[in-house]
Amino acid sequence: MVSPIIIDPLSATSLRVVPKFNDVELASATAFTVRWESQPYLITNWHVVTGRDPDTGECLDKKHAAIPKTLSVRFHAKGNLGAWRLVDLPLLDPEQGHLWLEHPMGKVIDVVAIPIAAVPDIHVHALDLALADVDIVPTPAMPVSVIGYPLGLAAGESWPIWKTGHIASDPDLDYEPGRPAFLIDATTRSGMSGAPVVLRLDSYRRRNGTQVLGGGMATKFMGVYAGRIHDASEIGRVWRPFVLSELFRRKLIFNDVTRRSVPGRVAACPCGRGRRFKECCGSAL
Ligand SMILES: [Zn+2]
Repeated sequence: MVSPIIIDPLSATSLRVVPKFNDVELASATAFTVRWESQPYLITNWHVVTGRDPDTGECLDKKHAAIPKTLSVRFHAKGNLGAWRLVDLPLLDPEQGHLWLEHPMGKVIDVVAIPIAAVPDIHVHALDLALADVDIVPTPAMPVSVIGYPLGLAAGESWPIWKTGHIASDPDLDYEPGRPAFLIDATTRSGMSGAPVVLRLDSYRRRNGTQVLGGGMATKFMGVYAGRIHDASEIGRVWRPFVLSELFRRKLIFNDVTRRSVPGRVAACPCGRGRRFKECCGSAL
């Protein structure tokens, strides 16, 4: 009897992507797939689809100074795990402008979602966003894996590589005020931007203070990796999972998880879209 090959389900959610200007490959990066209200999306970084540094606006492609027009994605082929299908997704449209969804705060949050239109012969293995709610209390120095394509490298043709580092800042603190991201210490390389970050442990503490010891592996989705905070450091930024909910709902969320404080009803909305809070993200509160 032949032993079956075991693939971690999370290995099937990350995909290698290449932003392109016509036929010129501008970079190499990672995306992963999720579903929101049954529509499949690719999640990656704002800087991957725009080709620009979100903080400085500088073009990331020093050679051609080009910005991406398409995103070339290696999707899983339908019905045949371990086979891939290369699809070029358009990023720009002459009438609609960009085709990706941004967070309500725009490029301040370096995460975008690209709707995956009906492409024949591909299969989407979506990351279950409920993994963000798994009851593990993360602490500094816990191991986390970034599932992506360091330097564009892949395992067995196009499977991602799990690169493991550690949580480097108190996970409840934002590295920069108003930008919901924490830090990890990992020997990441270019090509990993846009990768999902997960915590996988068999012993951990729950929110109610109880300790789980050897209860079987539990996996928590920690967020979206977005590159280093400084080229010479091995410290990188991870955007919290709730930014995806905010992105899909197109409004900021105010609760215990996001820890966003509710502004006055007539104050300017903190999303920065220039409307009063009650007419913007606060309209349903
Ligand atoms: Zn708003």
